[in-house]
Amino acid sequence: MQQRLEELDQAALRRRLRPADTQSLQLIDQHGQPRINFGSNDYLGLASQPLTAPARPPGDRLPPVDQPPRRGSGASALVCGHTLLHQRLIDALRQLEETEAAVLYPSGYAACSGCVAALARRGDLILSDALNHASLIDGCRLSKAERFVFAHADTEMVEALLKHHRRSFRNAWIVTDSVFSMDGDIAPLQRLAAIAARYDATLIVDEAHGTAVLGSDGSGACAALGIKDQVPIRIGTLSKALGAQGGFVVGPQVVIDYLLNHSRPLIYSTAAAPTTIAAALLGVQSIAEEPKKREHVQRLSRRLRAGLRSLGKDQPADDSLAAGVPIVPIRLGAAEAATAAAEQLWDRGFYVPAIRPPTVPPGTSRLRVSLSAAHSEQQVDALLEAIAHLPVA
Ligand code: PMP
Repeated sequence: MQQRLEELDQAALRRRLRPADTQSLQLIDQHGQPRINFGSNDYLGLASQPLTAPARPPGDRLPPVDQPPRRGSGASALVCGHTLLHQRLIDALRQLEETEAAVLYPSGYAACSGCVAALARRGDLILSDALNHASLIDGCRLSKAERFVFAHADTEMVEALLKHHRRSFRNAWIVTDSVFSMDGDIAPLQRLAAIAARYDATLIVDEAHGTAVLGSDGSGACAALGIKDQVPIRIGTLSKALGAQGGFVVGPQVVIDYLLNHSRPLIYSTAAAPTTIAAALLGVQSIAEEPKKREHVQRLSRRLRAGLRSLGKDQPADDSLAAGVPIVPIRLGAAEAATAAAEQLWDRGFYVPAIRPPTVPPGTSRLRVSLSAAHSEQQVDALLEAIAHLPVA
């Protein structure tokens, strides 16, 4: 192990923990000096807000919740860990997502892996995007279905695979992220939905980076593209823009009931703590109450992309939806270049993570800037200024 760690060190691939401030999400150096954090997925700036009591939604018939909520859920959801707050959050998610049913998981990772592993069974076919998040990949690996990985966003390949293989399998599943976590690009969801309909396949979309950021209702990329009703099963996380922790799956009642009875991380893991669920509920409530937050973070993303372009840094000329995604990669190639650039930015007062293999393919290491509604335009401009001075970028 020691030898392998040293090899990772030499290849600029070793990871280390770096403590963040417990209140502000800033990172602190060894002298106690803060760094502006451009690394978190707290896209709306909610994670650093103090926990308050979520308002009881109008028409809510559940009994009032004692405040403050207890620290732990004490058991898995099906035993006795599913509290009134969990139920309220499920109701809020069903409303936001306009689906029949919803179910919570202890994390987004558990939701992705547990959903795909349970739904796709032996005798089924899964088609999975090559750049899908590890949690979807692991769900595919855990399932007993036959798996094909299609080249990133290659809908022609999806169609060709279905044309050749669909008839040999009972069910076919197309599995994709909506917003890709390392590139910030958006899957060709409209074309995938049309192909799924043509070949009697079911599209499963992970909206981890879309929820609460995209769409006029704030429910994600599927909403922004007007295809919510064509994507029957959607997965989300409570841990990013919603500012809390946990995951969820929304879809038809029969799918959710099936997951409740077959999805292992849901059955065999303790339900998220009520305090966490209260935070998530506040996050879902803020989607409707504070649309300005997602407008602000989208504006910051456009500003940063335009600034990078004017510095001559390659930015894909995507449509206006993609330009609002708060994940902005700056591709540098070698892992050493990415870590050196991250260190130089750190010295100038910014935390921007270097993303390296195995998270991204070899030769595609990058800085990944994550924006938040808590950032100001001035902070984005200051970051651009620092990037302009990077010798390696
Ligand atoms: N899906 C995607 C696309 C992600 O980026 C992540 C988090 N990195 C997850 C799922 C897992 O979510 P969580 O952090 O809530 O486990």
